[in-house]
Amino acid sequence: MIRVIVCGASGRMGSEVIRAVCREPDMELAGAVDPVQAGSDAGIVAGLKPLGVRIEEDIGTLLGQTKADVMVDFTTPQAAPGNARTAIAYGVRPVIGTTGINEADQKEVEALCNRQRLGGVIAPNFAIGAVLMMRFAATAAKFFPAVEIIELHHDGKLDAPSGTALTTAELVSRARETMTYEVAKPRVEKLAGVRGGEFHKGIRIHSVRLPGLVAHQEVIFGGDGQTLTIRHDSISRASFMPGVVLAIRRVMELDRLVYGLDRLIFG
Ligand code: NAP
Repeated sequence: MIRVIVCGASGRMGSEVIRAVCREPDMELAGAVDPVQAGSDAGIVAGLKPLGVRIEEDIGTLLGQTKADVMVDFTTPQAAPGNARTAIAYGVRPVIGTTGINEADQKEVEALCNRQRLGGVIAPNFAIGAVLMMRFAATAAKFFPAVEIIELHHDGKLDAPSGTALTTAELVSRARETMTYEVAKPRVEKLAGVRGGEFHKGIRIHSVRLPGLVAHQEVIFGGDGQTLTIRHDSISRASFMPGVVLAIRRVMELDRLVYGLDRLIFG
């Protein structure tokens, strides 16, 4: 059995992860952490029957009492690096879905895992369809240098642009490295920021935040007389769970930190 701790257990993603872990025959919920609803039963908070697992306020306290194999983190960019440091200190493999973590913190978590030869995963998007969207976008970028990325998320999302949009922009930028492209700029910009944020060499990202949305992205390429749109929609948080479950299993075999679900799927 793979013993899993979920950080952010009372959140939207954390609750979904608890339900997913409870469905898997080779996994068990070893602990749950969240300052919200601390003291409550993790099963009840996730909409299941009581599991006898109390939500703890702090991961350190929990790991002092419980043995675990994997820690799944869907918290905040402020909390996730500290949770990962504590987990690694106890020999627990981090699987981090929290987005917006700065590069220095990511590099530190990676170095800590690698030094201990401990598996780890950081993935800004666990939806397999989103990973494919990024791969298709990187292929299209070799033929269409003109591109804009529109990411759309629920209004509770803390960071903008999304980690997926930034990763897509990075992949597109690398794929068209040898091509030159002059981005069209309006002569008059009547509203500041209306053309979105420029990532690198004319790759523009637009972030939409609205209630009712979950996680969506369009990558629009333009060429002479044609456009190509690659779109992915996560219409429910269940879309992320096959990727999370895959990462929990695969991280047990790794001896270093891997960045991105694509590395687990495509190698
Ligand atoms: P959410 O509903 O706000 O849940 C986050 C939970 O974590 C909150 O209950 C929060 O409590 C709690 N938390 C804060 N600090 C903590 C700590 N030190 N230890 C344990 N729990 C802590 O957010 P969400 O929608 O689930 O999203 C969580 C993260 O996952 C975001 O960064 C989001 O962008 C990311 N995400 C990633 C993917 C992916 O595929 N990788 C998919 C969807 C979302 P407070 O409210 O008190 O802060």
